[in-house]
Amino acid sequence: MGMDDTSLITEYPQVKDLMAEQPIFWRNPDYGQQTELPFSKADIFDAVARWERFAPYLATAFPETAGMNGIIESPLIKLDQMQDSWNKMYHQNLTGKLFLKADSQLPISGSIKSRGGIYEVLKFAEHVAMTQSDLVYMDDYRVLATDRYRRIFSNYGVIVASTGNLALSVGIVAATFGFKTTVYMSHDARQWKKDKLRANGVTVKEFNTDFSHVIPQARKDASLDPNIHFVDDEGSSDLFLGYAVAAVRLQNQLKKQHISVDRKHPVLVYLPAGVGGSPSGVAFGLKTIIGPYIHAVFCEPTHVPSVTLGMMTGLNNQISVYDIGLDGLTAADGLAVGRPSRLAGKVMRTLLFGSVTFQDDEIYRNVAQLMDSQQITVEPSAAAGFTAIAPVINNVPAFNSENATHIVWATGGNMMPGSERRANYNRGESLL
Ligand SMILES: *Cc1c(COP(=O)(O)O)cnc(C)c1O
Repeated sequence: MGMDDTSLITEYPQVKDLMAEQPIFWRNPDYGQQTELPFSKADIFDAVARWERFAPYLATAFPETAGMNGIIESPLIKLDQMQDSWNKMYHQNLTGKLFLKADSQLPISGSIKSRGGIYEVLKFAEHVAMTQSDLVYMDDYRVLATDRYRRIFSNYGVIVASTGNLALSVGIVAATFGFKTTVYMSHDARQWKKDKLRANGVTVKEFNTDFSHVIPQARKDASLDPNIHFVDDEGSSDLFLGYAVAAVRLQNQLKKQHISVDRKHPVLVYLPAGVGGSPSGVAFGLKTIIGPYIHAVFCEPTHVPSVTLGMMTGLNNQISVYDIGLDGLTAADGLAVGRPSRLAGKVMRTLLFGSVTFQDDEIYRNVAQLMDSQQITVEPSAAAGFTAIAPVINNVPAFNSENATHIVWATGGNMMPGSERRANYNRGESLL
């Protein structure tokens, strides 16, 4: 680091607003520059092909995916009623189209983690099956659900540290293959998530410490056994590419809805960021597959603007929100990560249009509005995108055009028990 707060603020005046927990819009000065990226379009299509090889397996092992033939994808939903409610709530007149990318409805984890987390487990399973047995690319992968393969997989393990949705996606799928699966969680992780994991045969280890101490412990335990694969949320390329596949699917959904993406028809995509892995993977995919006229905006809590702080200062994972005196506390479960991933800021340096920070009350209001207007449930983190639209169109009036499309990426929510849904709704309702 080697930079104190005063020199940080001198060089990057918006750091002062971050320190004051003020909602901000940060426009990325490096957006659109030419640069070398660590991944390519070929990497995305390698991941697309792997998902397709596994689709017959997934349709068998997870019957809830059979209707989609084992393809794990979410709908793109037009939000006409929510757009009216949103305009009233924010005293705005959003003239473009508003959509929800409903990853809250993805099978298995009910969250965006079904993209990256499941993909990483599939890749590991394929590697083990090809090196420890005779699986070849052209096989029908349903064979991986047989006892012969389950016995092979039982000699291997998967470890992940997570406070929530990543644990669900990685844990459930790894245990279904037959891997010895251990999830490291902090003591305050939600009980229903621990219960669901244990019911699926996952070992849940709970720790009484801060979550930042749980990750190093998980990493260390995994490194002691060469047969254990560690899913590293702070920098995994497999997670990243699993998320990036979303862009290939979204491109097709945009075409089906007759939405063109060009200079006259910009598309804005609002993505909540925690460690920054899922929004960066998705955004990398969007820029690589769809091109220069789709613009990604990250959304973070004012108390935990970790990716924004890292990118604004160029320090990326070398700075945490605690370094500037923030407490890192938010009710938005998936976003309470004080230090960004090693990949996010580096890959996004030229690909991110900008980012927005919001106060927790605002996501609850949107949770309630979305329920009232469209009867769609999302978890608080997943409503973050709704908070970013007004700052973006007010700072860039050209984006408030009838030719523009705004896509709020709803990152999770379908697995929440009814009691939690009602509590979130009630909190939002009381703030409207
Ligand atoms: C994990 C998660 C995010 C953020 O993803 P990161 O990879 O941590 O940035 C956002 N919303 C929900 C619901 C999540 O579970």
